[in-house]
Parts: sequence; C-alpha cells; structure tokens
Amino acid sequence: MTATAAQAFLPFVKPNIDADAIAEVGKVLASGWITSGPKMHAFEAALSELFGGRHVRTFANGSATMEIALRVANIGPGDEVITTPITWVATANVVITVGARPVFVDIDPRTRNINLDAVEAAITPRTRAIMPVYLSGLPVDMDRLYAIARKHDLRVIEDAAQAIDSRWRGQRIGAFGDLVSFSFQANKNITSVEGGCLVMNSPEEAERAERLRLQGVIRTGMDGMDVEEPGGKFNLTDVNAAIGLSQLAHLDSITARRAELAETYFRCAADSGLAELGIELPLPRDGDLATTNWHMFQVVLPAERIEGGRNAVMEAMRERGVGTGVHYPALHLFSYYRSLGWREGMLPHAERIGRGIVTLPMFPAMQAADVERVCATLSETCKRLFK
Ligand SMILES: *Cc1c(COP(=O)(O)O)cnc(C)c1O
Repeated sequence: MTATAAQAFLPFVKPNIDADAIAEVGKVLASGWITSGPKMHAFEAALSELFGGRHVRTFANGSATMEIALRVANIGPGDEVITTPITWVATANVVITVGARPVFVDIDPRTRNINLDAVEAAITPRTRAIMPVYLSGLPVDMDRLYAIARKHDLRVIEDAAQAIDSRWRGQRIGAFGDLVSFSFQANKNITSVEGGCLVMNSPEEAERAERLRLQGVIRTGMDGMDVEEPGGKFNLTDVNAAIGLSQLAHLDSITARRAELAETYFRCAADSGLAELGIELPLPRDGDLATTNWHMFQVVLPAERIEGGRNAVMEAMRERGVGTGVHYPALHLFSYYRSLGWREGMLPHAERIGRGIVTLPMFPAMQAADVERVCATLSETCKRLFK
C-alpha cells in the first residue's frame, strides 16, 4: 500500500455506482420518459423474480414502503405494533404516522435484534402487528416469529431495509413471510439512491399498495379516473429504478465480497485483541439457520469505561482517517418518545447497546489492508482511552 492510500480517509460506507449504472441513467434521461414507467416495472419484475415470484411494488423510499405496508394491513388509531428500539427511527415514526402506537420491547444483546420472548410478553388485545428489524442484515428466528404471529393472529411487517440477500434456512429474506419491506437508500447493500420495495402475498394487497403510492388514483380506459381511498405521492422514478436494476445485477458479488470482508474483520479483531479489551464483536451467524448479508460490521464498546465516552473513540478514529457511525441510539429515549412515557431503565439491553454500538467501515471496494487498519486503529485508540 502506498503512503497516500494509507492516509486516505476511509469512510464507514461508500456506494459502488459503476459506469453501467451511470450509462443507464443517461439513457432514461434521454428517453423522454423520466418518472415512473418501464424501468420501474422492469425493476419490480426483477425483484419479484429474486423473491420467488411474489408480488413486489417499489416506492420512493423505505420509510414510505413501511407506511404503505401498515396501511395495507389496515393498522391505525387504537392499534399497537410491537417493535425494537435499536433501529432507524423511521421504523417507529411510520407507526405514529398511521395513528397507531409503537410498543418497544428489549433486544437480545447477542443478536442486537428484537427479543422474541419479550415480543410474546408484550402482546395485548390491541396488538395488531409485529415489526422486527434485521439489524445489520441478521434475521431473527423466523420460525419462531411466524409461530407467534400465527398463534396470536397478528400481521408481520418485516423491516428488512438492511437485509437484502440475507437468508433463513437458506431461503432469501423476502422470498417468504407476510409484508416484507426493503430500502434502497444510498447506504444500503444495493441502492437506487433513494427507494424501497414491498413484497406481498396477496394480489389484492399489491393492487392497493400500488394505488396508495399515487394518490389512490384508479384509471379506466383513456379518460376514466376515480379515487376510492386517498393515497400519497410515493412512486419510484425510472431514473432511480435504472440505478436499482443495474445494482441488482451485482447482488451476488456484493454479498460475497461483504462476507469475505467480515471474515477478515474477525481475523484482524482477534489479531488486535479487541475482545480482550472488552469490545463485543457481532455474531458471525446465529446458529446455522440465519445468515447475514453483512450490511454493517458493528462492535459494542464498553462506553462507561471510556474517557469521554464513545464520542471520544469516534473522534480519535476520525483524526486517524477512519470513519465510523452509530446505528443506532435507543430511539425510545428520543424526546418525542419520552413524551409518550418511555424512560431510561425500561429496556436495559437496548440502552446499553445504544450507548456503545459503533459501525466500522464496510463496503465492497474495501481491501483486507483497510480492515487491518481499522482494527489496529480501534485497538490502539481503546488502549489509550479506556479507564
Ligand atoms: C434505511 C432504513 C429504513 C428506511 O429506509 P429509507 O429508504 O431511508 O426511508 C428503515 N429501517 C431501517 C432499519 C433502515 O436501515
């Protein structure tokens, strides 16, 4: 590695938009049809094929996708949706948007995903849905999740925003299940810059989702138009769809590259003695059933043992040219959710992990030497700052 390369700033994420994607965008812009049209339909067809022929509709972003999923499931005022506090805040905000109440339960500190025992304990007569999140791409125990849903007659809205190409028992997330929502936001494993898709079982629900994404408009013939139920403006443009389609073609190599980098991380973490310093590594996999797409590689720092807390570690890493992120602080402690009655001490595992979690650089263009540099920098920084 050259001296310049060694000193170049390493961000924690970087999209891999190649010449093909750029050329496809140019073609759409020159075509005379630039908003939702043939490319959006082609992207939906390709996604449907990926998910075993299930019904797929695309949306402007992953948040809109989840909002539509809630509406399709008829979830609204008076209803409760059980979810995790360790997620992007959109997961809970969309529940609020449709007028329902998010009920947060604690996480399993090993997987950092929602604890399914806690889900079962939180079910009330008002519970209508479970909204699990597959943090960094690691699925929950899908057999157990759907057993709970069946037993209590609940819908499952999977926030699979981070989980494209993750698997359960070898089957892709999205290839089975109830309502499964993905995001193609810029940081996700494949991106359309902004975008999302919902995978569904029922053709009626797919049609309703399609109407809700464009004002609820129903067209008949050349001139007929009606609205039975008002919708929003949530359609994905052909410009975005062209990028998504181009990225989707590389899904296998993206997932494989991320798995290689994760293996390198585990090797370098051992060489740098990260576990001995009290830094928690992610689960390599949850048993033999769940495989992650390595959307992120996240460690948990012992925040209470660090001079200056997690922020001090992140700043020191940045000064040494390594970008890091926080995904996520426990969202039940945000001011709005506190105003609904949520407090410290209610979800102790989520609160501890929300204080200590750090996302390390992970994107396909990284090299093994970058991973070595991240682990060495983290180890040296922690040795210096830990009390
Ligand atoms: C990215 C993400 C979303 C939202 O997706 P957008 O496309 O940014 O609206 C929701 N939940 C999780 C867990 C995410 O990572």
